[in-house]
Amino acid sequence: PTFAELDLCPELVAACDAMKWTKPTKIQEEAIPYALQGRDLIALAQTGSGKTAAFALPIMQALLEHRMPFFACVLSPTRELAIQIADQFQDLGKGIGVVCSVLVGGVDRMQQVISLTKRPHIVVGTPGRLLDHLRDTKGFSLNKIKYLVIDEADKLLNDEFETSLDDILQIIPKERKTFLFSATMTKKVEKLQRACLRNPVMVKV
Ligand code: AMP
Repeated sequence: PTFAELDLCPELVAACDAMKWTKPTKIQEEAIPYALQGRDLIALAQTGSGKTAAFALPIMQALLEHRMPFFACVLSPTRELAIQIADQFQDLGKGIGVVCSVLVGGVDRMQQVISLTKRPHIVVGTPGRLLDHLRDTKGFSLNKIKYLVIDEADKLLNDEFETSLDDILQIIPKERKTFLFSATMTKKVEKLQRACLRNPVMVKV
């Protein structure tokens, strides 16, 4: 199929064209239709499969229908991945004015606080720093988010991030869509899936 045949809106089809993407990757073909139907997803996919756009495109389509700040939150296990994810949202979202903030550890907090005052649509972060901001940064809350993405869940479920992730899940609304991406299905991923997805569809590539 083409991107248009997946029921993506013309603005997003144009964004994919501008990226010189000729057709959806396997994971995009499998995941996007379910995501657009409003289903929770568990997706088993490797880096390089096009997984970022598989969640970014449906989230931006929903954002276009109901534009609001702090619309989606993406959790990443590393700073580098968080930056790549935000870049992908920004590249695909150029034509529609999507604003992202990256909240990761090891860098200046003040810059991040300033970026949050711009009321981004999408917040991408590592769990520890994201939680710090949720607790300490005035005016920043995720109590209206519509989408949560847990990316590379198998890597997120380590000693460093597990408790922060649990705390974030306690704070954010239960009434939301959740996309869980993982390279592998582990016991911990299964447990997380049961705790935070609702009647999910599983897609594998
Ligand atoms: P990811 O698996 O999300 O890290 O994506 C890997 C790379 O594939 C990124 O550089 C994307 O820009 C690129 N990509 C994503 N979707 C497509 C597509 N449909 N066609 C060609 N390249 C793509």
